Amino acid sequence: MKNPALPYIIHTPLKHYDTRPAEVSIDTIVIHSLYAPESPTPFSAKACHALLDHYKVAAHYLIDRKGGVYELVAPEHRAWHAGVSKMPSPSDGRTGVNDFSIGIELIGSLTSGYTRKQYRSLVALITRIKEQYQITAIVGHDEIAPERKSDPGGMFEWGWVR
Ligand SMILES: [Zn+2]
Repeated sequence: MKNPALPYIIHTPLKHYDTRPAEVSIDTIVIHSLYAPESPTPFSAKACHALLDHYKVAAHYLIDRKGGVYELVAPEHRAWHAGVSKMPSPSDGRTGVNDFSIGIELIGSLTSGYTRKQYRSLVALITRIKEQYQITAIVGHDEIAPERKSDPGGMFEWGWVR
């Protein structure tokens, strides 16, 4: 597929990040999903942004159901999105995935699936990130924290990004 154009990135900063360790290279993208079940608009970017803020976590990017892309944390910072985590082993096995990864949240539930517009924005965003960083792995949160996390789940179509 030809790379779709990246939509205008909306900056809605969150403070839930710190400094990456020295000497670390960004080489991994972590795919997440979320929605705000207690909000009247559970799939809205506003509600999901507020939910992340409430839990004092943040991915670098959030993609809404219409494909809108929000930057929450600049990629050079260490956003708090993966938590206790470990790359698939034995091929990698590194822990503390926040150190060397960029996190992308898609709005959706484990049963809603994701929209074509979301996938198109995701592909465009990953293409943009790869222009800047040597990305060697794209993993789901459920792959790096399997005991705790189930996002983006079985509905996520990996064929779009791998
Ligand atoms: Zn996650």
